[in-house]
Amino acid sequence: MANLIISNVCSANCEFCFASSFLKKQDDHEKFMCLDTFMEYIGLLDRSAIDEVRLLGGEPTLHPLFADFVRIGQAAGKRITVFSNGLINEPALEALMDCPPDRCAVIINMNARIKKSQRERKAYVLHQLGERSIAGITVDSPVFPLDPLIQSILRNRMRKVIRMGLALPVYGTRNHNLHPKQYPAVAKAIVSESYKTAAAGIRIEPDCGFVRCMFSDEEFKALNRNGFCFGSYCSPIMDCCSNGEILHCFALSDLFSVRLEADSETDSIRKELTRQASVWRFGGIYPECEDCFFRRNEECCGGCLAAVMNRFLPVKAMSVCL
Ligand code: SF4
Ligand code: SF4
Repeated sequence: MANLIISNVCSANCEFCFASSFLKKQDDHEKFMCLDTFMEYIGLLDRSAIDEVRLLGGEPTLHPLFADFVRIGQAAGKRITVFSNGLINEPALEALMDCPPDRCAVIINMNARIKKSQRERKAYVLHQLGERSIAGITVDSPVFPLDPLIQSILRNRMRKVIRMGLALPVYGTRNHNLHPKQYPAVAKAIVSESYKTAAAGIRIEPDCGFVRCMFSDEEFKALNRNGFCFGSYCSPIMDCCSNGEILHCFALSDLFSVRLEADSETDSIRKELTRQASVWRFGGIYPECEDCFFRRNEECCGGCLAAVMNRFLPVKAMSVCL
């Protein structure tokens, strides 16, 4: 898995976005990934036997060559996955609609902060994409009723999946994120909402950063019954930037990265990013992590590494220390 960050600009303004501080640092001339760099990354995917092109931003569909990138990816025999805020312009939408539904997935951030005037366009896009679209949500508070999301999935014939992410911190900067102390309250809300998703035949797939102990054993059993596919992981996402830098993830963009080389493969890149981060893996998001049964049993990764690092090096001190 590797994400191609083809656009450093976005048409939404989400306070929980963990890409925004990285994207703001990019120079004007690097607003979009150039075709040559895109082709170099296609080469990386080919060498690594990866049959999927994952297009991200910012908002990837703002790239003037977005439709070309989709066609190039298809011609290279790859499935197309796009992460979007749903404000997709017409040429980009046409390119996606030209892909067979089983070769294309558009993960739409359903709680992206967009303007009122943009809502109509998003509703149209969702309706058009239908089964090509998957609902994504970033949980940024312990209260998040999923009823409107479920209605939208059913109304627009989207895939019956919700990709659920936690609002995670970014090391070295401040974004709106959940503090690990809020996780048990968030967990209760997830369990309660999972009854509604299960009744609608929708399963929930969690993103990185979830931890096992946020759920009690009873809650965990209920989740499993309700189609929540629990996984606890924090490993290199490999965000591939327009300047040839490959990041562990946006949350750790200031710390861990490698440069794309002509003969790079994702296995060796992942190994190197894992090595760079390994010095911080001794701890977890809570003091209890150091001697935790779930961790020893590999049922929990200890939580988001950016949150772990914030435990040991509070954000306030960072401008002095870095
Ligand atoms: S490793 Fe830490 S976060 Fe994970 S279950 Fe154990 S105490 Fe909780
Ligand atoms: S540090 Fe780990 S959990 Fe946090 S955003 Fe990066 S990959 Fe995800």
